[in-house]
Amino acid sequence: MIGKLVEYTERASLHLHPDRAKRLLGASRALLRRMQAARLRETVRLVAARSPFYREQFKRLGIDARAVRTPADLGDFYTTGEDLRAWGAEAFLTGRADTAFETTGTTSPTPKRVFFSQRELESVGLASAVGLRLLGLTRGDRVVSAFDSSFWVSPATTREALRHIGCFHAEAGKIDPAEFYERARAYTPTSVFGEPSWLVRLAEVAERRGAWSLKFMLAGGENMTEQARQRVERIFRAPVFMSYGQTESFGALGVECREQAGYHRNDLNYYFEIADGDEGCGELVYTTLNRDVMPLVRYRSTDVTRLVEEPCACGLRVSRIGKIRARADEMVVCGMGNVGPWVFAELLRDAPGVGAEWQAIILNDGCRDVIELRVEMKDPSARRGAEAAVLDSLRLNFTDFWKNREMKLYDLRLVPCPPSTLRAKRKLKRVVDERRMLLPRAV
Ligand SMILES: [Zn+2]
Repeated sequence: MIGKLVEYTERASLHLHPDRAKRLLGASRALLRRMQAARLRETVRLVAARSPFYREQFKRLGIDARAVRTPADLGDFYTTGEDLRAWGAEAFLTGRADTAFETTGTTSPTPKRVFFSQRELESVGLASAVGLRLLGLTRGDRVVSAFDSSFWVSPATTREALRHIGCFHAEAGKIDPAEFYERARAYTPTSVFGEPSWLVRLAEVAERRGAWSLKFMLAGGENMTEQARQRVERIFRAPVFMSYGQTESFGALGVECREQAGYHRNDLNYYFEIADGDEGCGELVYTTLNRDVMPLVRYRSTDVTRLVEEPCACGLRVSRIGKIRARADEMVVCGMGNVGPWVFAELLRDAPGVGAEWQAIILNDGCRDVIELRVEMKDPSARRGAEAAVLDSLRLNFTDFWKNREMKLYDLRLVPCPPSTLRAKRKLKRVVDERRMLLPRAV
């Protein structure tokens, strides 16, 4: 019954003028809260009855699923990415799966696997279509997308969303931006979808060969500095909007509006919270509200942000997630890909002349991400040999990261440091993201 009401709201808003759709989507906060509460109770009961992971955790913590009415009733129980890896996706299943996607990199070489049904894919597509419609995408538009299709969720959810919009859509995959530029122009795109670092490179190509006339670009899959966004927007003379999601959430948790001031969140399908908050800023946590194959309860996103309840200047009365500020773990999503400490440890394993201590600093030079791999070396002249070994390992062991380097989506530099200078404290933070994601006054 509630599921039908949500679907009706989403379908109806797709067919309305964006201004009227905005009014419908923000119509009743009280009704939204009631729907969320009912769906939360259903989800908690479902996982307690069918998922071995949740059954065991609730038993261990003395949680009675029938008594849970709000997330706070779960105390300090959370689901983490580490739980997914350690228990395996199967321990979370509550229904029959039709498909699966993976998220790689993170803090270990083992991918996290997440299962879904066709119904869930359709539902995610519908919600994403609503966001795209509000950004002005219509049946008459022509989208060429460049999302990487290897076990990644974005091509599937994009395809499904654009099916609801009914517009033209060609999928290039994540090919070299220069090749994309030549081949995609034949389809006269009005919108291009891709990862931020890839869009920056496409803009560089367009700067030399001529920009297309685009309505907007949609960036997803990683964060983007405002400087990089402004550069792409200046070249194409079109806005770049970001969507925010994770494979575990199955696509869009939220999408920006024309104000580019945080992501209007998908409250119909997720219950959002902030954990370990400091003045409202902390780790984003969400509970899925309409999943019955692999629901997640209080899943820790590892992204640090805040929930924004103040009204948005665009007029849509749907609350927002602020722009992601950082990650709560040491993983970084950047032009190289999803990288964590283990990636750099592996790259440095056979590098000659390199000491045991190292640190990776992620910077942005205004257009692309730069990974400075700082290593302790007794003899700085050994840098060239060590860098060559690192690049060899990158080419042989990390095909995707190598491909992204070939596409010039990032720079990787080895920076020698004198011995015993990196570890100032007991614990050395291995991966440090120093990119400034926010402009001074941003939410
Ligand atoms: Zn807005």
